[in-house]
Amino acid sequence: MIKTTKTCDRCPASGDEQFELFRVTVGIKHNGTMNYLQDTAKRGQDWCRVCCIEMGVLPPLQRVDATPIVPEPTLEEMIKLIIREEIKT
Ligand SMILES: [Zn+2]
Repeated sequence: MIKTTKTCDRCPASGDEQFELFRVTVGIKHNGTMNYLQDTAKRGQDWCRVCCIEMGVLPPLQRVDATPIVPEPTLEEMIKLIIREEIKT
């Protein structure tokens, strides 16, 4: 069995194949043109998401508050509601 372990180049965080690493490299923007190092694959580092967020390379994860889902009443529930209303009046 072959087991792959990915490790962040900046901190000791590591994980299996599902562990996210982001290639971080240096680029220079001059006159509107972005130039990266020639040998990015060798000179870059692989950072975990936490390190990327900490260093400002990635934006912080935004927590999206889920809107509670109110289920639509079924036909049976609507009929019962109508009957209750009729009985009250
Ligand atoms: Zn890290």
